[in-house]
Order: sequence, then structure tokens, then C-alpha cells
Amino acid sequence: MEEFKNILKYLENLADAQLESPNVIIEPYESIVDAAIKKIKQKEPLYFKGIRTIKIVPSSDYGHVKSGPNEDPAVVFINANRLKQELSQIPEDEMVNLVASVIAHEVGHVRSFDPEKGFVGGESPAEAEEQRILNIIRN
Ligand SMILES: [Zn+2]
Repeated sequence: MEEFKNILKYLENLADAQLESPNVIIEPYESIVDAAIKKIKQKEPLYFKGIRTIKIVPSSDYGHVKSGPNEDPAVVFINANRLKQELSQIPEDEMVNLVASVIAHEVGHVRSFDPEKGFVGGESPAEAEEQRILNIIRN
């Protein structure tokens, strides 16, 4: 039993270490998302502290976050296929900017999370963060 507790404690610390790290893992790897992350980190190296993973998933939106039982509000979900499809006519540099703004939108949701109240403020903190990052990386 004591050993089991130690394992749990070890896993808990591992999870926290992941949140403390400014590096974020993309699962599975997606080059346009990687380029967007690098662009944000050029301006703000510690930007992804507090974000556990960026998961590339098919969904009906550009991206989302989740809370509730068995969900991790520090995970950002990005629908890379839809972004690549819809932005395919846009010059690559601006395409990377727009993907970065979608990621920043979801990061805005993650940072607004309160364990008791959920994602506080709805879309406004997400939209504010999306605009803030767009302004920074376009300049
Ligand atoms: Zn949103």
C-alpha cells in the first residue's frame, strides 16, 4: 500500500513537472502546429507553461478545451486538418499566424480555468488572448 502511494505521488509530481515546463508536446506531431508554437515562443519563450499537451484531433471546430470528470483542462485540442484545408489559399507565413491565433484562443480558455467555476468568462478571455498573440507575432 505504501509503495502504491509512492507511485501515485511520483506520477503526480511528473504531471506537475509537465505543467511547469515551457515545452509542449504535439500529439501526433503536426508541422503547421509546430511552426505556430515556435513563432509564439520566439516572442514569449515561457508561453506554454501550464499547457500539458496539444492534441491534434478531428472535430467540428478549429479547436477546443474540455473540463469535467476524466478531462484535463490543461490540454488544448486543435483540428489541424480543418485549419490546413480552410487556410490552404493563404500565404504560409500568415497561415502560421492564424494557426497560432487558434492555439492562443484555446490557451486563453486554459488560463481562465477555475476548478470550481470552470472556464471563467466564456469566450472573452480566449478572444482577447487570440488578438494579443496575433498582434505580437505579426509585428
Ligand atoms: Zn473559444
